[in-house]
Amino acid sequence: MIDIKSRLDTINSLLSEGTKKSLTYAALECRLTIELICYERLKISYDYISHADLKKWQPRNVIEQVAEEANEDVASTFTISISTTPATEGSEPKTQEDYEALSYVPIGTQAGFNIRKLGKLWNALSNVALHVSLPEQKNDQISIYGDIDSTKSKVIEVIEELKKFKDGNLITSGFGKEYSFECNTCGTTLKRKLNLLKNGQVINCISPSCQESYNIYIQGDQAFHSRRVFETPCNECNSNVQIPQRQVEKLRFGQSPLLLDCESCKTPLHIELVPCKKNT
Ligand SMILES: [Zn+2]
Ligand SMILES: [Zn+2]
Repeated sequence: MIDIKSRLDTINSLLSEGTKKSLTYAALECRLTIELICYERLKISYDYISHADLKKWQPRNVIEQVAEEANEDVASTFTISISTTPATEGSEPKTQEDYEALSYVPIGTQAGFNIRKLGKLWNALSNVALHVSLPEQKNDQISIYGDIDSTKSKVIEVIEELKKFKDGNLITSGFGKEYSFECNTCGTTLKRKLNLLKNGQVINCISPSCQESYNIYIQGDQAFHSRRVFETPCNECNSNVQIPQRQVEKLRFGQSPLLLDCESCKTPLHIELVPCKKNT
């Protein structure tokens, strides 16, 4: 886990130097720390979301997507405790009251945060300190560093937010029932949180080298999946050749074609994107 105390020490020492230069570096350290916090929580959720599923890379967007698709508690504060009473067979606790009657010891606490607020601060740091402002006219002065007071106040705001993470000593990938299946091509087990799956959702294999993706269908409280493929008959043996749809979606006009062999007769296939006139 990120050592927040050491991050805060670095930022505070730059802040106390108080120069334009040190405050700019403090702003950069703040921004990097926000990214670290968000990406660390993304990383632990990679069992339930794939890198290929990510729509944007900015920390706020990443965490919002993780909350929607992989772990709704990604930014929540909670403590996990374990009961000191072993459950004996036949007399397991059944009701909420049964569980509440047991004694517990805490294992750890996840520090929560306001996704929107941290995202706004990440943007603001860049606006006040991490760009040279674009001159609008010939007489404008170009300055390396931003306004010292604005930078300082943003750094102080971030420090206050980061202090909230000091009591957190664990992060989790979330709770709840899973829907899982094996990828057709690479055999990796793909797991998703059942309550976060949506009808019509497309999910990608979590293996970075695998091109498979799947359509999700929800009926009642059950989930189903189907492989996303593009199908074309082989010119030689006429058997149906299935190509992962993601490979076809990556094709660009005028760029390298997709080369593969028919699985039945090994005849090479050449798939490329060609503009065609659509008759309506
Ligand atoms: Zn796969
Ligand atoms: Zn063939």
